[in-house]
Amino acid sequence: MLRLELIKGISTKRKSLLERLNIFSIQDLISFFPKKYKDFREFTPIIKSFFMQDEVVIKARVVDFENILTKNNKKITKIKIEDNSATAYLISFNPYIKNKIAIGKEYVIVGFFSYQFDRIESSQFIIEEVNDNSLNYGRIVPFYSLTEGITQKMLRDWIYDALNIVEREYGFKENLPKFLVEKRHLISRKDAFYNIHFPSTFDLLNRAIYRFKYTETLKLEFNMALNKSILVRKKDRIYSHDNILKEFINKLPFKLTSAQIKAFDEIKKDMSSSYSMHRLLQGDVGSGKTIVSLLAMVYAYENGYQSLIMVPTDILAKQHYEKISSLVKDFKIRVGIFTGSLSSSERLLMLKMISSGEIDIIVGTHALFSDDVSYKNLGLIVIDEQHKFGVIQRAKLINKAYNPDILVMTATPIPRTLGLTFFGDMDISIIDEKPANRKKIITKWYTESKINKVFDAAKEEIKKGNQGYIIYPLIEDSEKLDLKSVTTMFDYLQKEVFKDYRLVLLHGRMSDEEKDESVKKLLKKEADILVSTTVIEVGIDIPSASFIIIENAHRFGLSTLHQLRGRVGRSNIQSYCFLVTPDKINEDSIARMKIMCETDDGFRISEEDLKIRGVGEFLGTRQKGFSGLKLTSILSDTKIIKETRDDAFYIVERGLTGSSSLIKHWYDEFIERNKDIIRT
Ligand code: ADP
Ligand code: MG
Repeated sequence: MLRLELIKGISTKRKSLLERLNIFSIQDLISFFPKKYKDFREFTPIIKSFFMQDEVVIKARVVDFENILTKNNKKITKIKIEDNSATAYLISFNPYIKNKIAIGKEYVIVGFFSYQFDRIESSQFIIEEVNDNSLNYGRIVPFYSLTEGITQKMLRDWIYDALNIVEREYGFKENLPKFLVEKRHLISRKDAFYNIHFPSTFDLLNRAIYRFKYTETLKLEFNMALNKSILVRKKDRIYSHDNILKEFINKLPFKLTSAQIKAFDEIKKDMSSSYSMHRLLQGDVGSGKTIVSLLAMVYAYENGYQSLIMVPTDILAKQHYEKISSLVKDFKIRVGIFTGSLSSSERLLMLKMISSGEIDIIVGTHALFSDDVSYKNLGLIVIDEQHKFGVIQRAKLINKAYNPDILVMTATPIPRTLGLTFFGDMDISIIDEKPANRKKIITKWYTESKINKVFDAAKEEIKKGNQGYIIYPLIEDSEKLDLKSVTTMFDYLQKEVFKDYRLVLLHGRMSDEEKDESVKKLLKKEADILVSTTVIEVGIDIPSASFIIIENAHRFGLSTLHQLRGRVGRSNIQSYCFLVTPDKINEDSIARMKIMCETDDGFRISEEDLKIRGVGEFLGTRQKGFSGLKLTSILSDTKIIKETRDDAFYIVERGLTGSSSLIKHWYDEFIERNKDIIRT
């Protein structure tokens, strides 16, 4: 790294100011890209200067200046300037400015001008002697993010010097493979660095930006391709039987949708191939993903392998466990459950049965990946509701089995380019159809003053023999937040509003037994309404639930609202979703309510969500800060993403990981990061 002190004008004090901008070296300085540019190639006549609504550059003669004392006793200097078009005044609070200027001489002024009290003037400007090589005008000029004590002019000078120093010390050697530079018509690194700061033309600026975007995106996709190459590897499992599978499908209580069949075909093909599967199964809430994964597990069983399905919560594990157990009851398949809430003796027993192979399908939470769990012959790993997990340590997954087949399921549909970037190491199957006979959920938005109407509608539903949910954002009342809590509202609803109905409660602070009890009552139809927090958001499946009331709905994001709504409409009963908010909510919240009422298409909702929240928030914990993309927009730079994806996979598939210095460097980094899981 080249030290900042090599640049004239960077004192110790300024060095520490630069550190605030994360600039620690000369290399950092040249990689500190402008946040915008202005076209200062032409001078603006004074007469036009004030209606540009932006900074302009003018060339003018100083006619006169005078020092004035303002009303509140401040000394200012007023400089009169003129060009062929008009006269203007520069107002400066710097008493030394007059030492810099000479009457009768021409200067260049860069500033914001306005028209006030019959005259054109500027109090925000810089004035310079005429100079053909200025970095501040006479060209397309860069503007950087600043910090106090650092000006645009300083940064321009220093970055210009830094570019020259780097060129002198190292040269800007090409670091991408030659065949890619040619294929994608990339400008040279040197031209890219010079033009991103001091563009000769807008065309070169765009090409410089393209090269930098291309490079950072290529790195991301290259890592995806490498990930895939270690996840999708030769395996020694042989899948040659599918009779039980066929029988199982025939005995299902319903007919699979064609989208489910198609998705499973893709999965089955992967499992039968000699390479391990790494597949993402996307499908809107209620599209029937669980059953598809169960088919995969039955297929594994028939061919002699264990499978596991990991879910984010204990409740969901129990529900899946019961559902799967009942679906396989006519077969010899043994199902077990493994969560953090097992007693230590239950846990020991399960550990033993899992490792001896007495259990074929294991349902559980992340406890399944504890160090002491060892599998007899694990072949398939299913991860349900992927969006609820943080980064799952790949090493943990892989080390439980020899190149396992991995199926990841998510109910947050992922817009396509996002899929390519963030799930680029997986193959993708999509279930884009809901089981037949499902009616569109009717979604309505009410303000709190009309909540009795909503409660009346709920009572009507219960009279028909249906059930439902009422959701609140908080568990207990809070002094800080003016929101309703599930415990307070539960008492009120049971005593006042729904006196003659049976309500049960659910939230994260109840014990496992209590939670279980509530869900069971609902399933057995011993309760009419489940009053809950968003813990039910993931996965809860009560087919006869026909309504969900979401209070303080403005507090929830789109994807949460959509997931919550997905708790109803899970059979052929007409279902309703009631969103209830205070009378006054902000515009963003109004927009969310409207989108919810307009559509129940999960793909549409997630596109909107992505627009509102941006990529980082949208993806949640898993990928925060993970992309390393600084310039590239996942939403609008679709073309670059596709190009780099092709190029990165090409490099990895052809084994060209040494084809340039930068590629080699990325490759070494990857190997270092993954040395624990790379098998030879
Ligand atoms: P999700 O994709 O949200 O995980 P589930 O797998 O929980 O959805 O399925 C939702 C409901 O639809 C379940 O009750 C399931 O039994 C039922 N189901 C799944 N596939 C079909 C089908 N092809 N026909 C009818 N019902 C189905
Ligand atoms: Mg599910």
